[in-house]
Amino acid sequence: MPAQDPPADSPTDASPHREPGNAGLPAPPGPSSPGLRAKLEWLPGVGSRRAERLAKLGLVEVRQALVHFPRDYKDFTGSHSLDAIVAGEHAAVAGEVIDVGSRTTITGKTMVTLLLATPAGPLRGIWFGMPFLAKRFRVGSRVVLAGVPRQAAGSWEMAHPEVRYLDADEASESSPWLAVYPLTDGVRQSDVRMGVQAALAAAEGQLQETFRPDELDARGLLPIHEAFRAVHLPASREEIDAGRRRFIYQELYMLQLALRLHRRQAEVAHQAPVIAPAADVRSRIEGVFPFPLTEAQRRVAGEILTDMTHPTPMQRLLQGDVGSGKTAVAVVALLAAALTGHQGVIMAPTELLARQHLTTLERILGGRQLMDAAGEPLSPSVELLIGGQTKAVREATLARIAQGTSRLIVGTQALVASPPQFHRLGLVVIDEQHRFGVVQRARLQQDGCQPHTLVMTATPIPRTVAHALYGDLDLSTIDEQPPGRQPVQTYRVGAQQLERWWGFYCKKLREGRRGYVVVPAVEESESGLASIDSALEELANGPLEAFRLGLVHGRLAADVKHAIMEDFRRGRIDVIVATSVVEVGIDVPEATIMTILDADRFGLAQLHQLRGRVARGATRGICGAVTQASADHPRLQAFVDTTDGFRLAEIDLIQRGPGELVGTKQSGVPPLCVADILRDAHVATEAREHAIATLAANPFLEGDDLSRLRKLVVRRWGDSLDLGGIG
Ligand code: ADP
Ligand code: MG
Repeated sequence: MPAQDPPADSPTDASPHREPGNAGLPAPPGPSSPGLRAKLEWLPGVGSRRAERLAKLGLVEVRQALVHFPRDYKDFTGSHSLDAIVAGEHAAVAGEVIDVGSRTTITGKTMVTLLLATPAGPLRGIWFGMPFLAKRFRVGSRVVLAGVPRQAAGSWEMAHPEVRYLDADEASESSPWLAVYPLTDGVRQSDVRMGVQAALAAAEGQLQETFRPDELDARGLLPIHEAFRAVHLPASREEIDAGRRRFIYQELYMLQLALRLHRRQAEVAHQAPVIAPAADVRSRIEGVFPFPLTEAQRRVAGEILTDMTHPTPMQRLLQGDVGSGKTAVAVVALLAAALTGHQGVIMAPTELLARQHLTTLERILGGRQLMDAAGEPLSPSVELLIGGQTKAVREATLARIAQGTSRLIVGTQALVASPPQFHRLGLVVIDEQHRFGVVQRARLQQDGCQPHTLVMTATPIPRTVAHALYGDLDLSTIDEQPPGRQPVQTYRVGAQQLERWWGFYCKKLREGRRGYVVVPAVEESESGLASIDSALEELANGPLEAFRLGLVHGRLAADVKHAIMEDFRRGRIDVIVATSVVEVGIDVPEATIMTILDADRFGLAQLHQLRGRVARGATRGICGAVTQASADHPRLQAFVDTTDGFRLAEIDLIQRGPGELVGTKQSGVPPLCVADILRDAHVATEAREHAIATLAANPFLEGDDLSRLRKLVVRRWGDSLDLGGIG
C-alpha cells in the first residue's frame, strides 16, 4: 500500500478501478436457496439508510453482497498492544483518540496529528498533505492504527498509518486483515463491510457446494462457505490466498466447461465434410512449394489432415514462432480441401494480409499444375473477398463461390459480417487471429454443415495461456524454423549510438539490402499521422536521403498500401517507413534490416513480431531498437538477449504481471471477474483438465448431480458463448 493512502474507513477510499459488475459472479448461489435472496435491508446491523447506499453498488440481496469481492486487504495483524512493538517492524495498535491537531509545517505542508491513548502509553499518528483528515477523526472514538512505528522524542509515532475504526463493543482483534472493497460515490467501506458481514452470517447453511467433496480434496479447494469467509473476513494471508484461489479456480473451471460445451454443441449439431485426400495427393501438395517443408511443418500438417478425415469438425489452434512457416501449413490444408472438391477459406485480420495471401496462393498455384481428385486441372483462380469492393465485383465473386467454380477464397472479416453462400465449404483458416471471438469463429457454418476450423496465432503464447484463452481448441505447435534461418542480430541503440547506427544501416542498404523503419505512431489519430509524416520528412532529408522511401500506415487505402508493398517487394523502393501495420504477417524475404524508433513504446510480443519481418530469408536479419530509455530497460533487455519467441512469451507474461491483458482483450473470451487469464494461466490448465474429465464422464452435464453445475455455467456464459443448445 502506498504510504499516502487515506485511512481505511475514509469515503475517499473508492477504488479507481472498479471490478466488473457482479452479475452472476462467479457462482451465484442458485435460486433454490431463499435465504440468499433475502434483502440486506432486513439483516441485523444493516438498516434502511445503509441498504440504500449499498444498492448504489448493486448490492441488494445477500447473494450479491457475498460476491462483492475485496480489491485489497489492510494488515491489522499483531498484538494490538504498544508493549509489543518494535521500531521499523509493521504493527497494529488499538486505543482511544484523545487529541486531533492540524498545523502547517515550515515547508508549507499541512500536518495532521492524532494522539492515541493505549494502556501501555501514547502513540502518535501523523499525516502530511492531507488536511481533510483532521475533520474526520473524532476525539473519544476507538481505532486501530497500523503501520511502521518509530521512536521520536521518546514516544512512539507512525507516519501515514492505516486507520480502522472500532464499533463500541467490537474487539480490536476481530479481523486482523481488513478487506477493502470497490466503492462508488457516497458509499463507505464500513457500509460494505457491515453489509457483507451480515450477508455472510445470513448465508450460513444456505450455500450449495459446486464441487464434490473428493474434488475439493483433490484440488485443495476450500468449501464454499469457508471460502467466502476467508475472502471477506480472513484471519491470515494464507486464508486470503486460499479463499481467492477457490473462486479463481471455480471461475476458470466454469469457463473451461463453457468453452468445451460450446465446442461440443457445434460438434453434435453439425457434421463436417470428410476430407481425405489420397496419399499421392498429399505428396503432390507438398510438391507445390518451392522448398521442402520442415519436419515440424509436416508433423502439424499431419495432425490437421488427420482431423479433417473425421466428420467431427476440427477445432484446432496452430501456433509457431514468427517465421516458422504457418502459412505453408495452412496452404497444405486448403489445397487438401480444394483437391477433394471442397472449398477452403482463409481469413486475415487486414486487407494487406489478405492480398498477400492471395499473391502467395496465386504464385504457388501458378507455378505447378495441380490435378483434383477427378484428374481435372485445379482452377488456379483464388477469390478475394474484402470490404469496399464494387457491387459488381462482389456479386460476380459471390456467384462463382455459390456455384463452386471457386474453391479457394481469401478474405477479411468482411467475410464473417455477411457470409456468402458457399458451395461445399470444407475448411476455414483464421490467420493471425486475436480479433476473432469464440462465437465469431462459428459463424461460417452453413446448411447444417460445420467446416473444419484452423486458428493461427500471430505470436507464440505460453502453453498455459493458450489453454486459458483457447480452451475449446486442440493445440498444434511448430517448434522449428526453416533451415538456414539465423536469429536476427538485435542491437539496443541509445542516443549516443544513433549516428553510428544510421551509418551502419545506410551501408547495409548500399550493399543491396532492403529495410524497414518502424515508427510508433498512434495510427488512427491525427497527431499520430503528423508524427509519422514528420518522421518520414526527417528521414528523407536526413540519414536516408540517398534512398527511395515508401510510407505505409493504417490510414492509407488498402490497395495503395498493397501497391507500395509490391514496389518494395520488387525492389523499386529501398525502405518502408511504417507504423506497426507491418507488424503482423508481412512477408518480404528480401527485407533484412530494420530500425525500430522509440522501441520502448512497443510491447515485447509486438517487438518480436516486428523483428520477424527481417528474419525471413537466408541472409541474417539485423534489427536496431532505438530508445531513450535507460540501458537496463527490462523489456528491451529481454528483446535484445532472446530471439526464441516462446521464451519471450514467457518473459512477457512474467514482466507484464497481473491485470494487463494486452492482446488478450480481443481474444473473444468474455471478461472474467476474479481470475486474470495471464496471472492465473497455470490454474486454467488445471481447470481445463478437470473440465475435460468432467465432460468425458458426462458430455452435457446431465443428471441430477450435475444439473446445478450446468445451470450455473449456462447462466454465466450462456449468452457470451452462445450455449443455446445446452440450457
Ligand atoms: P509465419 O509463421 O510467421 O506466418 P510465414 O508462413 O509467413 O511465417 O513464413 C515465413 C517465410 O518462410 C515465408 O517467406 C515462407 O515462404 C518461408 N518458408 C516457410 N516454410 C519454409 C520452409 N519449409 N523452408 C524454407 N522457407 C520456408
Ligand atoms: Mg504469418
